[in-house]
Amino acid sequence: MQDKSYLMIPGPTPVPPTVVAAMTAPMIGHRSEDFQVLHKDIITKLQKIFQTQNEIYILTSSGTGGMESAVANTVSPGDKVLTLVGGKFGERWSELTKQYGAEVIEVNFEWGTCVDPQVVQEKLAANPDIKVVFATQNETSTGVTNDIESIGKIVAQTSALFVVDGVSGVGGIEIKVDEWHVDILTTGSQKSLMLPPGLAIQSISDKAWKVIEANKSPRYYFNLLKARKQYPKWNTAYTPAVSLFVGLNASLDMMLAEGLDNVYARHKLLREATRAAIRALGLKLMADESYASPVITSVYAPEGIGADDIRKVLNNEYNITFAGGQAKLKNKIFRIAHMGFADQMNVLIAISGLEMALQKVGYPVELGAGVRAAQQVFLGV
Ligand code: PLP
Repeated sequence: MQDKSYLMIPGPTPVPPTVVAAMTAPMIGHRSEDFQVLHKDIITKLQKIFQTQNEIYILTSSGTGGMESAVANTVSPGDKVLTLVGGKFGERWSELTKQYGAEVIEVNFEWGTCVDPQVVQEKLAANPDIKVVFATQNETSTGVTNDIESIGKIVAQTSALFVVDGVSGVGGIEIKVDEWHVDILTTGSQKSLMLPPGLAIQSISDKAWKVIEANKSPRYYFNLLKARKQYPKWNTAYTPAVSLFVGLNASLDMMLAEGLDNVYARHKLLREATRAAIRALGLKLMADESYASPVITSVYAPEGIGADDIRKVLNNEYNITFAGGQAKLKNKIFRIAHMGFADQMNVLIAISGLEMALQKVGYPVELGAGVRAAQQVFLGV
């Protein structure tokens, strides 16, 4: 049926009607007082979500643009950096830093497991000249959340900067930028923040500014020093995506009205229900309980069945979209996102559709078993 869809991928995610409506407001000039008021308001709200006093910059770009900004502004050719890799987005840090001429020490953790902070400690001790450590808060490709607090406390003992990709996690998983010593946290608009794609948002610590000022890499659009000049006036260096700013203000209001603790608890509950349902259907979860992501659940397809065949049935017959596996996980796993504007009914629809799709691809399940398990989690019975 046209217009009817259940989008359960890790971005873009469904945008709440209130946010859509906000974005239809007439355009305002980006050098106007109205924009300055809006910009200041947004930054104050973002500081609550990031739990930081640091300056926060909003760039008109996708999440990867924000990652590139973090690299272009902190990595000079020949610098030694440490990248913590447990999936496709960790790999992106390695690819980006290599492009900027860094000497990259890449530590790999098995996909589906989390970064071991002990290994970070050992690498930093063996390489005291590491200038920047790059990590991923929520590894979207596997459904794993890393222990940013522990890693941050280790990196803070050294002169290295700690840069975190929070693209899929921020807004759905708590992060404490100041307390956990995150020098640059960079995120995107189209995931847990409930907006269309188009904005990258990043906080910058004083320790990071010193590195940025001395940095030698070429940069123009992403030169944060140019952005910083405009910051006291609540202007941006170049024309921002004004409508997305208006939408961001509305989505932040929604999150703050719900209460951040409630937002994070809601995501954890959706994770628990989804995982209980998957177990009840006899399928294998990718991430262990102790580090499973609150915003996305990765599931192995049953033996002998392609994950993409299941996704095809879901898509074609029920308008339910799950994400597939990326790179070496292609056709092996499917990923159910429950981030941002997601609630209990989204999970029940997803699981109910999954049960029917499994039946159709030749993996008969006890119909209703997954739905019941999820309902039991929601009802606490
Ligand atoms: N980092 C993470 C953890 C992501 O999940 C994504 C997108 O899926 C990105 C970075 C890249 O963001 P974008 O596709 O907006 O450039």
